[in-house]
Amino acid sequence: MDELRKKARALLEAGEVRVVIGYGGGTGDRARAIFVREPERADELIFDGRCRQNLAIYLTRREVKELGKPAIVATLPALKTVLQLAGEFQIAEGGLVVLAPGADGSLIEFKTFADIEKYLAGAASPIDPAEQAEMDRVRAMSPDERWKYWLGQISRCIKCYACRQACPMCYCPRCTVECNQPQWIPVPSHELGNLEWNVMRAMHLAGRCVDCGDCSRACPVGIPLYLLNRVLIGDIESNFHQRAGMKAEVDYALSTFHPDDRENFIR
Ligand code: SF4
Ligand code: SF4
Repeated sequence: MDELRKKARALLEAGEVRVVIGYGGGTGDRARAIFVREPERADELIFDGRCRQNLAIYLTRREVKELGKPAIVATLPALKTVLQLAGEFQIAEGGLVVLAPGADGSLIEFKTFADIEKYLAGAASPIDPAEQAEMDRVRAMSPDERWKYWLGQISRCIKCYACRQACPMCYCPRCTVECNQPQWIPVPSHELGNLEWNVMRAMHLAGRCVDCGDCSRACPVGIPLYLLNRVLIGDIESNFHQRAGMKAEVDYALSTFHPDDRENFIR
């Protein structure tokens, strides 16, 4: 933590960045995002097991961009998000400083996107055992049972859009659910509208989701959105050999055509 605070203070004092996006004390088991703009506030930064939110979400937010060049405190999913956002031309090399604190108090400052790529290539992404057990349980269901399972889950959706708001890859200035001429997705929370909304969001995130889990954690009714995300991550990986957030140059599966694509999904 000392290393992180020292670095943040130095960056702000030297004017190398205008804001450090990091974690501060929150309530319960969650730290909250803080935006440190004065060197003397660097000591408010923390880094421990409560720091789970993917702070890269703020890199595309207009209000944060207006503060000037940022440094960001990045967990593993945030590092992936930085690369994915770079691949989607939302951030540029040299436009931010990326700081990755370790659990042992160490600190890595990434100078280039290529350095992040190298680091991620050798990093493991552990899966929560309870989530793995639920994934295995749903995978073992018959297609009919799985369909009923998802209809049951999605029927609880209240269309609050917290999942979208929490997602670092949902950065469109105007979401399709807010377009009403024509109204593509029904506004009320009912079975068909809920299904359309959740399928539409899953498809928009296919090949782009970095598996940070923030959408699942944000859902007030506890819909296990990570299950949908991970199935799509697995399908994109096995069919197109791509995994989001591993490279700063994106060959996006759902918008790139190769003559040797298998296309078995339309046969
Ligand atoms: S869809 Fe969920 S898990 Fe994937 S990047 Fe967005 S918030 Fe993270
Ligand atoms: S956060 Fe949960 S309840 Fe809210 S819109 Fe997303 S899936 Fe539905």
